[in-house]
Amino acid sequence: MRTLLIVRPPEYVWRTSPRAGRVLTLAGRYRIKTHNQWATEPAQGENQHMAERARPKITPETQHYWDGAKQGELRLQRCDSCAHAYFPPRPFCPKCGSREVSVFKASGNGTLYSYVINHRPLAAGFTEPYAIAVVELEEGPRMMSNILECPQTPEALELDMKLEVTFQQIDDNLTLPQFRPAKG
Ligand SMILES: [Zn+2]
Repeated sequence: MRTLLIVRPPEYVWRTSPRAGRVLTLAGRYRIKTHNQWATEPAQGENQHMAERARPKITPETQHYWDGAKQGELRLQRCDSCAHAYFPPRPFCPKCGSREVSVFKASGNGTLYSYVINHRPLAAGFTEPYAIAVVELEEGPRMMSNILECPQTPEALELDMKLEVTFQQIDDNLTLPQFRPAKG
């Protein structure tokens, strides 16, 4: 059998591939990132409401990513020295340490690498159940995303299914790159 289906506790369905150990490592790294460059902050002013989704805190390191999303582009970085493509944004290559890096527009194509379906009301601005997915991009990096325009069920969310980026405009100042099943 290709996949594991583990239920723990009954509210959660964690479905993942045999490469799961690496996914857990990745998730751990993302969690650390929320304390620095991927920090979120409460909505300000009139948007300050409990139902509001937490907003990413835009930093000089991540500015290109959010600017790209507003323009309908998924932007990654590539090392000029060793050609390694990477995500999340940082000013040096995570593979060789070079600071000669460039931003480029990704294809927006990827596959569903792993996901968990959350049934508990954990975060403001989300409607349960919803999938928290790891998408493997065509260029190599993996990123966390929600899967839009698709039932949030294990039947509909098939591992390795083809996905494409879509841009979810939250307001004039924030657009989120998200993924949906590839069309055609
Ligand atoms: Zn490099």
